[in-house]
Amino acid sequence: MNVIILLGAPGAGKGTAAEGVKAAVPFMHVSTGDMLRAAVKAGSPTGREAEGFMKRGELVPDNVMIRLVEEKFDAEPPNTAYMLDGFPRTMEQATMLDASLARRASRVDHVFYLDAPRDLLIARLTGRRICRKCGANYHMVNIPPKKSGVCDTCGGELYQRADDHEATIGTRLEVFVKQTRSLIDYYTQRGVLVRVDAADHRDKIIGHILEIVRRPAVGQ
Ligand code: AMP
Repeated sequence: MNVIILLGAPGAGKGTAAEGVKAAVPFMHVSTGDMLRAAVKAGSPTGREAEGFMKRGELVPDNVMIRLVEEKFDAEPPNTAYMLDGFPRTMEQATMLDASLARRASRVDHVFYLDAPRDLLIARLTGRRICRKCGANYHMVNIPPKKSGVCDTCGGELYQRADDHEATIGTRLEVFVKQTRSLIDYYTQRGVLVRVDAADHRDKIIGHILEIVRRPAVGQ
């Protein structure tokens, strides 16, 4: 079981990088944000528990997140390669993930930290639009659809995530600084952190990640 993590503030481009990486290498893409949005839409107990936190731009409690990810690991074949996007986001989640992987004779191989300045994050988040049908990502300025409000790929309607409105963005960025940023040191000390310049073009970012993922493993 191979595991890589995409770490970065909201708007750093984790989802876009994940799309490109999984098109080239068969990772199981686990986006906890997508899983929670699906749970909210379905009105499941997890969705009802998470909804308020998400609306406010706060983190969903660790025990809920750990349960969600454990259930995902249990549901997939044991040799699945995972790309975790948006998880872990706290030290508690990171240590629980380590314990969970150790039980499965696995560990985190690489953590790609998508590093971006605050003004770039804000510009990306406010301009982001998503297809309601296929989940494709657009940006009003950087990646506009051919026809305004319509997905190029499937013709679905584009929408703005409720938590991408300006009022919530400030909280989400603050939450990253206070609760998630310490993971950079944690994974640096473990020797698995790879810093990626999130301001680079998406193809360069994806190429950088793929080059490392495809390198033969040493000492495993
Ligand atoms: P994202 O799509 O990754 O930006 O996540 C959207 C929202 O889902 C976040 O603002 C949190 O409220 C919640 N969320 C996603 N992943 C996590 C996580 N690992 N821990 C806590 N909350 C999370």
